[in-house]
Amino acid sequence: MKVKRTTHCKYMHPLSGDNLYVSPSGKRFCNACQRAYRAAYRVKKGHVPLDPTRCRRGHLFDAENTVIKKSGRRGCRICMESYNKAYSANADRERENERRRKTGGLADKHRNAGAIAERATILAFLRSTSLDIHEALKQIEKGAHT
Ligand SMILES: [Zn+2]
Ligand SMILES: [Zn+2]
Repeated sequence: MKVKRTTHCKYMHPLSGDNLYVSPSGKRFCNACQRAYRAAYRVKKGHVPLDPTRCRRGHLFDAENTVIKKSGRRGCRICMESYNKAYSANADRERENERRRKTGGLADKHRNAGAIAERATILAFLRSTSLDIHEALKQIEKGAHT
């Protein structure tokens, strides 16, 4: 059986030369990944400050991308814009829902008003007509009562 020897780590770093680390147990590691992993771990643990020239998502704080917030703190324009976009998209949705709720309610009111008016017309017709009740109901069904 031929064992497939991995020549690259899953991030396509070559598992050879300086980049290959073989542990005492014979396990092979990618040095680049180990370094990246350790660095990420240190940042996560707060042992290393984040790169002060970049925002938390890695956008460069250059003249164009830096905004000073009301609080006096520095903000990343790209992040703020994407945040605002998400926020306003959300607000748009909320407004749309609100509008639907309102017009939906209004339509219901109109329907109710229509039903009330209809009933009043029918009652008025029944009171005024000299027709037999069954005949009158037939007229109403035909819409001849208005
Ligand atoms: Zn790697
Ligand atoms: Zn950013």
